[in-house]
Amino acid sequence: MRILIVEDEPKTGDYLCKGLAESGFVADLARTGPDGLNLAVEQDYDLIVLDVMLPKMDGWSILQKLREKKETPVLFLTARDDVADRVKGLELGADDYLVKPFAFAELLARIRTLLRRGPVREAETIHLADLEIDVLKRRVTRDGARLDLTAKEFALLHLLVKRQGEVLSRSLIASQVWDMNFDSDTNVVDVAIRRLRAKVDDPFPNKLVHTVRGMGYLVEERN
Ligand code: CA
Repeated sequence: MRILIVEDEPKTGDYLCKGLAESGFVADLARTGPDGLNLAVEQDYDLIVLDVMLPKMDGWSILQKLREKKETPVLFLTARDDVADRVKGLELGADDYLVKPFAFAELLARIRTLLRRGPVREAETIHLADLEIDVLKRRVTRDGARLDLTAKEFALLHLLVKRQGEVLSRSLIASQVWDMNFDSDTNVVDVAIRRLRAKVDDPFPNKLVHTVRGMGYLVEERN
């Protein structure tokens, strides 16, 4: 099994390369974005471990260009646990992600899972009643009509619909969509929900976004 590591931080790159070689993989290391993209396109790897923050060409651009040509599974390494980053990576065609810093054992476990699974990705469309979210195209329709959402509204709706049937607290929503901590003013969540409802629910008789008093918000179909 051949693995390409694209990582600019010398210590981390060497460490990953050595660790994977010791675990029985053939591992190549690229230290810049352009080198990584060239190797990924020209060589046949079973998996690519791709750092997001790279000089010259970041991980997102590499992933985007790679996906025009190849379906090699990609596990990306992100510096912060931000839902917007994760969504972006998955939409661009990453197969999994790890937040730095991580334990090598965890990276190894994720790599083995991905290699077993092959290049299967997150569902490209999510449905709830007559609402449809096309995750790759970032397109939302309800009852066949296109809804025009901002990036944050999309991230918010995507989160709620992915976890449909679960009550999500304001602080959880704030941390996942806005990367704000628990002490922040979560009023921003209420305002965003109001705007989202105006587009997603108000024109339709069947409401999907529900307030759970004292707890947060829940998305589900109620008849
Ligand atoms: Ca980096």
